[in-house]
Amino acid sequence: MTQIADAPVHAGSLPQSRHLATAVPGPRSRALHAERRAEVSDGFGTVLPVFVESADGGILQDVDGNRLIDLASGIAVTSVGAANARVRERVTAQLERFTHTCFMVTEYDSFTQVCRWLNEHTPGDFEKRTALFSTGAEAVENAVKIARSATGRPHVLVFDEAYHGRSLLTMAMTAKDNPYRLNFGPLPREVVRAASANPLRPSVTGAVAGAGAAGEAGAARDAKVAGEEIAARALASVEATLAEHGAETFAAMVIEPIQGEGGFIVPAPGFLAGLRRIADEHGIVLVIDEIQAGMGRTGTLFASEHEGVAGDITLSAKALAGGLPLSAVTGRAELMNAVHAGGLGGTYAGNPLACEAALAVFEEFEDGTLLARAREIEAIAREVLEPLTRQTAVVAEVRGRGAMLALEFAEPGTLAPRPDLAAAISKACHAQGVLTLTCGTHGNVIRLLPPLVIGAELLRDGLDVLRAAVLEAAGADTAR
Ligand code: PMP
Repeated sequence: MTQIADAPVHAGSLPQSRHLATAVPGPRSRALHAERRAEVSDGFGTVLPVFVESADGGILQDVDGNRLIDLASGIAVTSVGAANARVRERVTAQLERFTHTCFMVTEYDSFTQVCRWLNEHTPGDFEKRTALFSTGAEAVENAVKIARSATGRPHVLVFDEAYHGRSLLTMAMTAKDNPYRLNFGPLPREVVRAASANPLRPSVTGAVAGAGAAGEAGAARDAKVAGEEIAARALASVEATLAEHGAETFAAMVIEPIQGEGGFIVPAPGFLAGLRRIADEHGIVLVIDEIQAGMGRTGTLFASEHEGVAGDITLSAKALAGGLPLSAVTGRAELMNAVHAGGLGGTYAGNPLACEAALAVFEEFEDGTLLARAREIEAIAREVLEPLTRQTAVVAEVRGRGAMLALEFAEPGTLAPRPDLAAAISKACHAQGVLTLTCGTHGNVIRLLPPLVIGAELLRDGLDVLRAAVLEAAGADTAR
């Protein structure tokens, strides 16, 4: 049995156990939610309308006294915990000094320190520079600005099942229409979409050569051959898409090393390396969007390390600053410096409180414990969840890396997506005090993003609730 050393990394006072004092959501949350509906735009959705009073380690405590197990981390943000002591200390000290100067007006050293750490730790053995912003979408937009400025080319290549944000350019780069793009057009025509290499649902299909060897070793070999073929076919399709528009007109190709909102899709082996090769061949800037998968989530500091691939530009956000808004574009010095002075920036870009929080996060990652924990979380989750693929026919796959894991639900045999099951199972988890999120182009995936500081016992409790909910929903489904 896999063990996480159960002395929690966090040192907070919130009890690290699930507790239901009322139904979820409870009466106070319901009342606050009704008020919210009267004041806040309905354009904002809510996964679970509970109002949080405090959070720490793997627990969110709501205003009704319920303690929920956090398997979401505020969408991959609070990896070091939502009340991390180092973050609190550094941010509090900064709060007492000053909150803001605007880095474009007068400077502060923490901005430089964050840039230095990212220059040293992002993949790629070349001289780098970094620019800081506030949100992930801003980082993506600025990467495109930088690539255009450096190459003088208009087009941006993105991929099936991609997610890059909700701003006007990044929503065009995002693949899913509803809810992200619906009614928000027109979209810029310079964004061109190519095939991705989803091993379960390849964009480009065809017979797989070499399949059919017998036995378990044969099955593993088949899977490897199939994966390589999926990558090869997708790469050929990428080349064709580039050729159709003129490869020499592309400034950048932007890819997530694991597609997040699209369904926690780990690309078929060789796909990222193939994109690296194609980008080099055509002088296209390879931008790796590590906004969800980066900063230790997958057991390495950056998810592209698993593939041995370095982007010309690497994007960070979310977990970078432990919950404070900070994003970063880190890339080859000659690209990052190709922009004219004054061409990059923003009033809040690299806010000093957020920079201090990032420096605290870097300290948390220094000794490797959190990276090891991400890998241990994967081992525990696989041990609990993988048997479901044999016990029920509706779990098509358990996949992911480190503490970025997902279950995909589909009709046995046909692989027709079952978003209804993902929604029902997630709802059942919420009622039991376990916060899960769904994702996927078809909405049929439950994703797990626990804080890396979650204790083993709490994690197992949450996973057991999830497993029971899956078995119950699958049983009810069989009885239909
Ligand atoms: N890129 C990726 C891969 C993301 O997952 C997200 C957020 N889900 C973004 C970009 C956009 O980040 P933000 O919401 O901070 O703008």
